Amino acid sequence: MPTRREAAAPTDDVAGLLRAAGLRVTAPRRAVLTWLERHPHATADAILAGVRDELGSVSHQTVYDVLHACVTAGLVRSIQPAGHPARFERRVGDNHHHLVCHGCGRTEDVDCVTGAAPCLAPADDRGFGIEEAEVVFWGLCPACTEEKERQR
Ligand SMILES: [Zn+2]
Ligand SMILES: [Zn+2]
Ligand SMILES: [Zn+2]
Repeated sequence: MPTRREAAAPTDDVAGLLRAAGLRVTAPRRAVLTWLERHPHATADAILAGVRDELGSVSHQTVYDVLHACVTAGLVRSIQPAGHPARFERRVGDNHHHLVCHGCGRTEDVDCVTGAAPCLAPADDRGFGIEEAEVVFWGLCPACTEEKERQR
């Protein structure tokens, strides 16, 4: 597909975010952040495919480098559900959690009930300064549940 561009979302100043994070504004960085805003919880492969639609040729390595730089700068959050490839999202800094389907890997946001990390306190912290509790809610999504019932 040729350079098809979505109408720019004026509230989402990607270039400004990059500059504020001390990162140089480059076409791949803008494209990744813009695409990710519309496709939360995407894998690196999905991001690569999405960005290629907009930029034409862009290498695997470039997209990985962009993701790495943006995660390090706090512009992108990565989550790594066990047994699934890492997923990336623009929703950062709010300590939200995820529902993950162990069938198809569908991932949805859930707000943190307590609002701040760590969400849970161990009965005995053994003297550790607890920073966070990693909370992932695993289950079967509605589509996978339906599929399972159909096969019964
Ligand atoms: Zn599912
Ligand atoms: Zn999320
Ligand atoms: Zn929580």
